[in-house]
Amino acid sequence: MHAETDLEVRKERMLSEHLLARGIRDAAVLRAMREVPRESFLPPEMARLAYEDSPLPIDAGQTISQPYIVAYMIEALELSGKERVLEIGTGSGYAAAVLSRCAAEVYTVERIPLLADGARNRLQSLGYSNVKVLHADGTLGWREQAPYDAIVVTAGAPEVPAELLEQLGPGGRLVIPVGPSQHLQNLVRVRRLPRGDFRREHLCAVRFVPLIGEQGWDDGPY
Ligand code: SAH
Repeated sequence: MHAETDLEVRKERMLSEHLLARGIRDAAVLRAMREVPRESFLPPEMARLAYEDSPLPIDAGQTISQPYIVAYMIEALELSGKERVLEIGTGSGYAAAVLSRCAAEVYTVERIPLLADGARNRLQSLGYSNVKVLHADGTLGWREQAPYDAIVVTAGAPEVPAELLEQLGPGGRLVIPVGPSQHLQNLVRVRRLPRGDFRREHLCAVRFVPLIGEQGWDDGPY
């Protein structure tokens, strides 16, 4: 089969078997997952695996999350399309691209310069013009652009960084993997209630690379 057609078939299978069958219902999220070419965010030799439901290695020892988790986390942000969203952990830029189809503006922060530059170029050349990429320690958020209607963290934190709670607007949602180990976390959603106090819910068990920084884990090899 022609490589492109083959990927389209695999993508439809991913949508029905991994997203719909496992409970993803948000129409905007499903549409975005169909629209964004995951193969364009992977090293070329990985492209044929783009629609397997598994995380895959990208540069600098990091990973691109599995499609189901990307869809699940974005659905958990309860977006209507009008929001300003902050993502911590740009990685390949894939989740930022999906987010950009579900929200008005996306701000994404990555600590590894090689990944931040790569994602910025990729997002620009693919035409995702409502995404801005910053190279910085995302445990401190992106203060200049705050407050955000929603924040998603795609690396595992020891605790919810206080700075991110501060940058969440009233009524906002923060979705973040939190756990005592660097490789196994609980996905947590924190809502900032209109009066300003926070309510925390546990969503499911997940496995992410560690969030490294001032309000995250101690520095690793990067
Ligand atoms: N959302 C990404 C997957 C990211 S993997 C995608 O769709 O491809 C997690 C990313 O978080 C890695 O790239 C890692 O370098 C980054 N990261 C870890 N600690 C960070 C921090 N303090 N600030 C910003 N990014 C961080």
